[in-house]
Amino acid sequence: MKLLDGKLTSEQIKEELAQEVAILKSQNKRAPHLAAVLVGTDGASLTYVNSKVKSCEKIGFGSTLIQLEETVSENELLKVIEDLNNNPVIDGFIVQLPLPKHIDDQKVLMTINPDKDVDGFHPTNFGRMALELPAFIPATPYGILELLERYQIETSGKNVVVIGRSHIVGRPMSILLSQKRTVGDATVTLAHSKTRNLTSLTKQADIIVAALGIAEFLKGDMVKDGVVIIDVGITRINDTSKKSGFRLAGDVHFESVAAKASYITPVPGGVGPMTIAMLLKNTLLAYHRK
Ligand code: NAD
Repeated sequence: MKLLDGKLTSEQIKEELAQEVAILKSQNKRAPHLAAVLVGTDGASLTYVNSKVKSCEKIGFGSTLIQLEETVSENELLKVIEDLNNNPVIDGFIVQLPLPKHIDDQKVLMTINPDKDVDGFHPTNFGRMALELPAFIPATPYGILELLERYQIETSGKNVVVIGRSHIVGRPMSILLSQKRTVGDATVTLAHSKTRNLTSLTKQADIIVAALGIAEFLKGDMVKDGVVIIDVGITRINDTSKKSGFRLAGDVHFESVAAKASYITPVPGGVGPMTIAMLLKNTLLAYHRK
């Protein structure tokens, strides 16, 4: 079994991006700039946004963090988004999900200018991605493609099972891996909460992408020998032995599955850091497209 080291790979990507920023600066050009909007004080969201902002600083990107009260009205949030749409020095921005219940996610995502939608959640980008046109690919599936490519894992003709059909991970992942592309050409099955006999599908799979959000769901007896495992899940589990009071668990029962896998992503240190690296890559793309 080999680890698909997302931490190391993301550091390499960030180093490549830092070199590109250094070239821009040597040409007296401004650096790319990413903004993030965070509503409320959810601990996990705050951690994600902070590490995105920190990564920007590390590679020389500009960054802006806009923190809004949990009680902010939908109209106020939409106004913030319009301001970011119109701000010429902001190349791309994200609105960290989930949003409070009184705010309509879809309305918010639809307000983002697709040219600055570096999360790739706007219907224009999602549609362009599905049609194999230039688009911002959502950062998590994009990071998984990059990880598979850099570890030279063959996907052509392989049986892939993606577990979970969310708009931000499972569904775009299933579309991308089925497309005619360097990392693609796979035969993809998209499994979800209504799927019957999931184990009969996962046992046939050469590659499994687990993105359902249930800690340690995929067990060793559900996979075949030599399988490649991409674990997207991140669940906080109470653990009093940790300083933080919790530990992070993936959707894969690591011990039993790793014993059979040829490659596997750890949690943490797998898909998570790749997601951040690809968000930065999308921001550089937005900068160059301007
Ligand atoms: P979601 O909650 O939006 O969707 C979960 C999906 O799993 C649904 O489509 C549902 O049908 C499916 N599902 C639920 N129970 C199932 C079951 N028993 N069998 C098969 N399918 C089932 O999830 P999401 O937003 O895609 O996130 C999934 C996980 O990935 C979460 O743990 C989340 O925290 C994590 N995540 C990680 C990153 C990262 O960067 N590493 C990014 C996004 C999400």
